Amino acid sequence: MASVWRCLSMSLLVAGVLWAQGLIVCGKCGREARAGDAVCRHCKEALPKPKADTPTAVEQPTAQADDKAEVGRLAAGIVEANVRLARELEAKQPELALCYYQNAMALMRLVPAGTFPDTVSEAILTGSARALSLVQRGTVPCKRCNGSGRYQLDLSKVDSSKGLKSVSGVPCPTCKGAGTLPGLKEVSKAKMQLLQGRTEFEQRQMVAGDVKVGRVLVPPALDKLLSNQQRALIMTGMPMPCRECQQTARQACTACRGSGWKPCDFEGCTQGVLKETRRTGARKERRLNEEAVKKCPRCDGLGEIPCPVCKGSGSVACSKCDGSGLAPRCTRCTGTGLMPCRRCKGTGDVKGAPCPECKGETQVLCPACRGEGAQSR
Ligand SMILES: [Zn+2]
Ligand SMILES: [Zn+2]
Ligand SMILES: [Zn+2]
Ligand SMILES: [Zn+2]
Ligand SMILES: [Zn+2]
Ligand SMILES: [Zn+2]
Ligand SMILES: [Zn+2]
Repeated sequence: MASVWRCLSMSLLVAGVLWAQGLIVCGKCGREARAGDAVCRHCKEALPKPKADTPTAVEQPTAQADDKAEVGRLAAGIVEANVRLARELEAKQPELALCYYQNAMALMRLVPAGTFPDTVSEAILTGSARALSLVQRGTVPCKRCNGSGRYQLDLSKVDSSKGLKSVSGVPCPTCKGAGTLPGLKEVSKAKMQLLQGRTEFEQRQMVAGDVKVGRVLVPPALDKLLSNQQRALIMTGMPMPCRECQQTARQACTACRGSGWKPCDFEGCTQGVLKETRRTGARKERRLNEEAVKKCPRCDGLGEIPCPVCKGSGSVACSKCDGSGLAPRCTRCTGTGLMPCRRCKGTGDVKGAPCPECKGETQVLCPACRGEGAQSR
C-alpha cells in the first residue's frame, strides 16, 4: 500500500481544487461561482460568502461511536481498493479509471483525518484529472501531408507545373511521418467513451455486490451503516456530469463544424496559391509567360487556416456548464444534499423521542436532488 501512495504523491503538481475548497454557489441560478466574485456571472445575483462544502459533523452519541469508526474503517478500505484499480486501469481504460478515482474521492469524505497521509486526497484528485484528460486526448490528421506522413514536394519549385507530389521515403517534417498530430478527441467520441466507462464501472461493482448511494458504489455492509449526513457527504463528493458534455467540458465548434480548420481568407489566396499578374508588357505576352505562382504566406500553401473561433481545436467550452463539465448545483439545498427535517422542525425529536423521519439526525436528504447536491435533470 505504501508504494501506491508514494507513487500517487509524485504526481501532485497539477492543482485540483474543485472539491478541495469551499464552494460558492449562486442561490438564484445554482451555478458555481468563482472565488472572489461578488455577484454571479450568469444572473448578477449577489453571492454568499464562501463556506466549507463539508457539513460539520455533529457529535454522535456514544452508542453510535462504534458505527462511525466502522464506517471510517470500511471507507478507507474501499478508497485503497479503488485507487489501486484506478492506477492499474489508467493507461488502457482511462474512462474506467476515472470512475474509480471519483468513487475514491467521494468516499475519502468518510475516512477519518490521519488515516492516510495528507497528500492522498490531492493525489486522488490529480489522478482523476489526469484520467479525464487521457480520455480527451486524441489525434488529428496532419494537414501538411494530408495524413500520408510523406514529404510533399512543391512541384512549382521544380518545373512550371503546379501542385504537390508525395515523396516516399522522406517523412513529413510537420508530423515526423506519423500522418497525425496530437490533439483533442472529437467531443462526441469522448462523451461516448466516458459513458461507456461509467457503465462498465457500475456493472463491475454491482457484480461484486455493491449498491448505489447516488452515483457512489459501496458494499451493502457500508450502506446499512450510513446516516443521512454521511450519505449526503459522499453523494455530493461525487461529480455529477453536465448533461450536455458528460464532463468533457467541450462542445463541437460550430464555426468550423468541429474540423478546426477554415478556408484561408488571405486576399487572392486560392487553395494556398497566390496568382500575381505583372502589369508590364502587352496583354498577350502577360498571359503567356508572366503569371507568377506564389505560396500564400498566411496559410503557407495549405489553403486553410486554423479556425479562429476554436483556435484550431475543433471544440469550444460547453455553453451549458460554462466549461466546468459539471451539472449545476441544486438550488434547494445549495449543493449540500441536506435539508432540515420537517417532521421535527430540525430539532431531532418528537414528543421526547427521536424523530422517526430523520432518526434524530435533524436533517434529511434534500428532496429536490435526493442528496446528490446537483441538478441531474
Ligand atoms: Zn446566478
Ligand atoms: Zn504530416
Ligand atoms: Zn492562404
Ligand atoms: Zn472552430
Ligand atoms: Zn457541459
Ligand atoms: Zn438539493
Ligand atoms: Zn426529524
